[in-house]
Amino acid sequence: MGERKVILSGNRPTGRLHIGHLFGVLQNWAKLQEDYETYFEIADWHALTTKYRDTSSLKSDIEDMVIDWLISGISPEKSVIFVQSHIKQHAELHVLFSMLVSLSRLLRNPTLKEYVAEREALKLKTEKKTLNRIAQNISQKILKEDEERKEVLEGKIKEFILKELEDNLFSEDSEVPYGDIVNYGFLGYPVLQAADILIYRAHVVPIGKDQLPHLELTREIARRFNSLYGEVFPIPEPILNEFAKVPGTDGRKMSKSYNNTILIGEDAESLKKKIMSSYTDPQKIRKNDPGHPDTCPVFHYHMIFNRENAENIKTECIKGVRGCVQCKKEIFSKMDTFMEPYREKRKKYEEKRDLVWDIIREGDKKAREKAEGTMEIVREKMKINY
Ligand code: SF4
Repeated sequence: MGERKVILSGNRPTGRLHIGHLFGVLQNWAKLQEDYETYFEIADWHALTTKYRDTSSLKSDIEDMVIDWLISGISPEKSVIFVQSHIKQHAELHVLFSMLVSLSRLLRNPTLKEYVAEREALKLKTEKKTLNRIAQNISQKILKEDEERKEVLEGKIKEFILKELEDNLFSEDSEVPYGDIVNYGFLGYPVLQAADILIYRAHVVPIGKDQLPHLELTREIARRFNSLYGEVFPIPEPILNEFAKVPGTDGRKMSKSYNNTILIGEDAESLKKKIMSSYTDPQKIRKNDPGHPDTCPVFHYHMIFNRENAENIKTECIKGVRGCVQCKKEIFSKMDTFMEPYREKRKKYEEKRDLVWDIIREGDKKAREKAEGTMEIVREKMKINY
């Protein structure tokens, strides 16, 4: 691999991947491995920050995700594919880095804020429901007979409880911000991420725009370490993933949590079902209604898998000379052909899942060697190599 610059990227193991990942990330990785020394991390510790209660599917999720990496062109000959938790040096560097970051810096993490806002909204919703029920019960018990007074009392109790709840949940001056919503691991995950990147002394990190704040923290930690103990880490630069987003079958962003994905190598039967039931322009009810292809996910799929005919399809849709059923049948046929080689390759690994682990063990070895090399320098620079 010689003098090539180093790239680190990775993903939490989430099971099988979808075509949004293929066009948004994996095809880019496959290109990058031609020019860089590439490390692809299966970030299982990161997965635990939110998925620590039930870990039963973690192993099969890792296998499924790595199979998708392999069938999408990530080559174990060109790239190092490894499991984060197999390289204990990441944990060591994480601990050392955690001394260099203030708590207030971590609390400014925008992902943390989004996560907390989501959880708070959910918590409020659940508590509102429970407390409404309690309010009803109390008022019913006190005022069995008097319907009118019961309603007034119930309303007052609800009003009082809601106010208390909202004040309590969103108060700025609570002693521990986000105290009972966020665990220590989640708060510190950008520091672990910095350790993941810097332990390979990566020069470049391919990321989406939304992840830029995390990389900024990694860069800050690298600078701080270098200025305290001496130059060890390059300051990693981002390469922005600039790919068109693939919409899900319901027109929203393709995501497992929306249940609107098309998997890489999706089997023909379920592919057909998904395409034929996918969302289209709601104003186009009959074939001769003029349509709006730009808002239709099926048209987006034509642009990706049937590019040569996309312009024509657009015109026909707008003019009302194309029906949605026919349009879906055509794109299904194109996508079905596209999926065939992915299905074939997936089958090979499905039948021998041990192959995936052989590849990972090989990658682990290379990753461990590189990571330990960095840790030897780090311990020496910090004078903790006694
Ligand atoms: S004709 Fe095709 S592009 Fe137009 S709305 Fe229907 S499915 Fe979408």
